[in-house]
Amino acid sequence: MRHLPLDKHARPIPWFVYTASDGTPDHRVAREACIRDAIRFSFCWICGTPRGTWVTFPIGPMCGINHISAEPPSHKECALYSAQVCPFLTTPTMVRRPKGLDGAPLPPGESELRNPGVILLWTTRTWTPFNHDGGVLFQLGEPLEVQWLAQGRPATRAEVLHSIDTGMPRLIRSTVEQLGEEGLPGMESSRTALIDLAPAV
Ligand SMILES: [Zn+2]
Repeated sequence: MRHLPLDKHARPIPWFVYTASDGTPDHRVAREACIRDAIRFSFCWICGTPRGTWVTFPIGPMCGINHISAEPPSHKECALYSAQVCPFLTTPTMVRRPKGLDGAPLPPGESELRNPGVILLWTTRTWTPFNHDGGVLFQLGEPLEVQWLAQGRPATRAEVLHSIDTGMPRLIRSTVEQLGEEGLPGMESSRTALIDLAPAV
């Protein structure tokens, strides 16, 4: 990541980050060409250099239940670095602002506006982009490894369970909206599978 430009706090600006005409980076908004190039050329979403077949998605816990990410994958090292330093990923009180700079488009799908407080690093070899709502989302395959972080350090079991519990009402609502009541058993078994991957303590 050493080749990346730095922001005013001397932190590297991730490759995908949209920059407004006055030079201000908006970390919530991705440059559109980056999604295309990340898929086509197998570039890491965060550092923009080629990555291998083992990839990592830094996601909120609820994305670990529906197995969907709004962003392409990264090197594991880059994802871990982001989870340790990115202000949104490390500060539970920071909430996503809903509008992009210059009216830039936000990701498709139901982006989680709450801050989940916990970040899940989902490492896998299988994932599939698909079109959704005029944009692209990513279906995640089974994880080969998971790592949980909160405030830039390893998350506790209690933090993980709390984040999942507080995200459930919204996930139940959107599951019923999209799949009807019959979608709930699948969601529930996916939730149980994720809790099996939570830290022991
Ligand atoms: Zn990278």
